[in-house]
Order: sequence, then C-alpha cells, then structure tokens
Amino acid sequence: MRRPLNKPSRRKILQGATILAAGTLASPRLRAAERTDVTIIGAGFAGLNAAILLADEGMSVTVLEANNRVGGRAFTADHIYGRPELGAHQIGPYYARIRDMAQRLEVELAAGSNFNAPYTFAIGDTLIRKEEWENHELNKTVGAERTALPSAMQGFYIGKHNPFEGFDDWLEPEAARFDISLAEWLIEKGISKEAMRLVNAGLVAPDASSVSLLTLLQEATRGRLMSGAGDSKGKDRFEQYALASAHVVGGTSRLPEAMARHLGDSVLLNKIVTNIDLSDGGADITCLDGTRYQSDFVISAIPFGPLRRVSITPALGGEQAAAVRHMPYATNSQVHMRLKGEPFWEQDGMDASLWSDGALNIVRQPLDYDGTRNRLVAIGSGKKGERLDQLQPKERGEFVVREIERLRPSTKGKIEVTGIHSWPQYDFVSGCRHSYGPGQVTRFAHEMIKPHHRMHFAGEHTRRLEIGMESAMESGERAAYEILERTV
Ligand SMILES: Cc1cc2nc3c(=O)[nH]c(=O)nc-3n(C[C@H](O)[C@H](O)[C@H](O)COP(=O)(O)OP(=O)(O)OC[C@H]3O[C@@H](n4cnc5c(N)ncnc54)[C@H](O)[C@@H]3O)c2cc1C
Repeated sequence: MRRPLNKPSRRKILQGATILAAGTLASPRLRAAERTDVTIIGAGFAGLNAAILLADEGMSVTVLEANNRVGGRAFTADHIYGRPELGAHQIGPYYARIRDMAQRLEVELAAGSNFNAPYTFAIGDTLIRKEEWENHELNKTVGAERTALPSAMQGFYIGKHNPFEGFDDWLEPEAARFDISLAEWLIEKGISKEAMRLVNAGLVAPDASSVSLLTLLQEATRGRLMSGAGDSKGKDRFEQYALASAHVVGGTSRLPEAMARHLGDSVLLNKIVTNIDLSDGGADITCLDGTRYQSDFVISAIPFGPLRRVSITPALGGEQAAAVRHMPYATNSQVHMRLKGEPFWEQDGMDASLWSDGALNIVRQPLDYDGTRNRLVAIGSGKKGERLDQLQPKERGEFVVREIERLRPSTKGKIEVTGIHSWPQYDFVSGCRHSYGPGQVTRFAHEMIKPHHRMHFAGEHTRRLEIGMESAMESGERAAYEILERTV
C-alpha cells in the first residue's frame, strides 16, 4: 500500500519545528488499527535517512523514537555551557550522504571541525612536551616506535602495516585472517611491551586483546582517504582530518532535527518500542505506553544494546541472535568544564590539552570557532571510562578536577564542572559505538544484517564502507533499498 508523499508544506515543516523545539511529546497520530508501509525504530541518522528515502519513493512511514529528541548519538548539548557536542561533530570530506542531506534541507555546514589545542603528555604523572617525547628518559619504547607520540602508537603500527586498499576489503573472505585481536597482531609485528602499554592506555575498547583488528583496519583505510583530502601537509593525522572536514553551523543536532521536520508528523517522540511481532502480513509494534503501530515492514535502526530489551517474535536465531546479544559497545564518559582566571597553559608554558596514561585518557581543550579557549572536556574510554562511570556524577566531576589539578598544578582553582555525560549510561544507546571483538566480524558482519522475516536492520553497527554518521546514513539507505526491492 503506497501513497505518494508530497513535499511537506511549509506549515508542516514549521509545525515539526515547534514540536522539536519545545521537546514535547509528539501526539500519537496513528491508532493501532492504522497502518503505514514501513515503521522505523530509532530516529538517529540511520532511521531518519531510511525514512526520508522511503518517503521519497512514495511509501508511508512512521518513525518511533524512544527519546524526547531526535538525533541519537548526534547530540549538541544546548543545556551545557559552551554548547559542546556530546556525540558526532566531524563531517568527513567524503561524507556524501550527510553533505547532500544538509544541502537538500538547507542546513548550513562550515569548514573545519574538532580543533583542539595540541597535547601535552602526562606519562607516569610527569608532564612532557610533544617535542621532548622522542628523546625523553620516560620514553621506554624501542627503535622506530620512539618517534611515535604516545597517542599515535596504534596509528603508527596500523599505518605501517595496513594490508587493505579497498574500503570493502575487510568484508572479503580472505580478510578473516585479520579478525584477530589487535594485541595478537601487534605482538606479531614486534611491538615492545611499553608501546603496547601506551596503546592500551589510549584505547576506546577495554584493551587491545578485546578488539578485532579488522574494524581498525577498515577505519584506517577509510581514514587514509580523508586525511589525503585538502592541503594539510605538515600537520598530524588529527589536524589533517579536522582541516579537511566540516561541521554543522549551530551544532550537529540541527541536521537530524531538520530531517525530522522534513518528515513532519511521521516522527513520534517518547515511543519506547518493547515488542515487535512479525507475521507473513507484516509487523505489529508495541510501545511501552501501550500504543501499537502496524506496517508491512519494519526497520530496526537502534543499537544492539537497546535491541536486547525488545521482544521479537519469531525470535532471532543463530549468529544473528548471538550478534545482538554479544556485540560489545565502547565506553565514553565525559566531564565538561569551564576555565576561570589566567590561562593555565601560558602559566606553565605547555600545550593546553592533555593525553594521560593515568586515570583519564584525554583532557581536550576545544578551540571554539571564534578562537575562544575557555573550556575543557575530560574523556574516559575503555576501562578508564568504566571506572569513572562507577562514580556518581557529582563525584565524577570532583575526581576529574582533582586529577587534572594534581597532574597540572597551573590549573588549580581554575576549573569548574559544567556538565557530565556518559554514553553507556545514556538511555537507549548503550555505548558510544559498537566494537567487534576478535573473530566477531567473521561471525557476525554478514549474518546480522540479513532481513528477519519483514524486519530489516540499520545503524552504525551494520556499516559496510563508511564510518561515523556517514555509516549510519549508508546503513539506512541499504535497509530502505532492501525494502524497495521487495515491493517492486
Ligand atoms: C562521543 C562520540 C563522538 C562521535 N564523533 C563523531 C564524529 O565526529 N563524526 C562522525 O561521523 N561520527 C561520530 N560519532 C558516531 C556517530 O554519532 C554515530 O555513528 C551515529 O550518530 C549513529 O547513528 P545511528 O542512527 O546508527 O544510531 P543512534 O544515533 O544511536 O540512533 C539510534 C536511535 O534509536 C533510539 N532508540 C533506541 N532504543 C529504542 C527503542 N526501544 N524504541 C525507539 N527508539 C529507540 C535512540 O534513542 C536513538 O535516537 C561519534 C559518536 C560518539 C558517541
């Protein structure tokens, strides 16, 4: 049952804008008896892109979003001082879908992104300038490793030995031999004990033995192209990315908000899906508030963490069920801070951001686009993030301030906590990103995206060629086309 979806009227767009701006509950437009062609669960980039593409093709859609806002892991914290991005920010130079969507919906992008003050290194509590690292007595790495900054050790090895050229090489059968732990591979490549310690200190995953090398190789292959874009010679990899990238003016959230406005009253907020019942005739979806939505097809565009809590009938089986149950998600715990008084980096003469092998991973000083330098954000990932998350939010902030002041006395009395955010603790997300363990790419990557009856799968965890927001868009596109192919 298709109906043409006309371009939404200006009135409809404004109506959507009011709902989103007020953050209020969108009224349940549909009663249980009403049907649309496709129900999409999750209003992140994956779900919203799938919905727009299907609507473009004349299908009727309903998007059910558990939260009181759209965007998922794109979250501009308008409520925190400096309006930091809690999630996605950087739009890579080759993010064709994100860039096209911004253009289509007249959302303004501007050049550059994620500019940080350069890092000082805190190794065993000693502050070391990056220029001093190679010959510093605390640099216990060996041979050519000595030239790699502590924060770049993993990139040093992967950059040197990455066997992949094509973006889909990681999904080829012969790539299975690289579906081993990062630790195993680094040992094979001759990494020293100290370099391995530094790799572990900066990892997003708990440690190098718990993450599959294959995912990292995919990201590095994609990243190689990005850092080659633009004219950024002489800069490090992160600066190259930042210079060749873009950001959404006014915050990343403005883009998914515009996508939702475009879809108008098809997007329903505060709809926590709890049950998906599939039959030959379609899908019957129930939300926590008792409302039901019926459709011919359903797209699950939610991470596997929250999907574990959804009852699916008939149940998923085999490796697909195992993927949903076991896919690891990475930690990302953030403490946002405002700076007071004289610039501490001028006082101690060292770069303002900090990379540490201690309790925190990094303390970044974001450089605002107008040049303002009055914020810091401490990020705990891997095991460090888990330890931070064990503290209550207030204690977490106090711990981070104490730790920064201890490492860097010039910051004493100059830091004030403005916001706390943890992705594993944030409802309906479960972690900052999926993170395949060793052997899991081979087991899961192909199986877990196969349609289950009338249910299709999207989301960054189902990515093929892209990374980040673009991979979510890519996955929504794939799921939409799978359904379109079934309906011709
Ligand atoms: C700290 C951080 C920094 C990042 N930086 C970048 C970056 O700079 N550049 C980049 O490209 N990418 C970045 N990313 C990655 C990017 O944010 C994600 O890849 C992308 O936003 C994922 O989109 P998604 O649609 O797959 O999932 P999500 O954005 O997680 O959307 C899923 C949606 O499903 C909803 N949901 C969950 N359960 C239910 C349920 N039961 N019922 C209904 N709805 C439900 C959730 O509320 C959510 O809105 C970053 C991510 C993080 C966390």
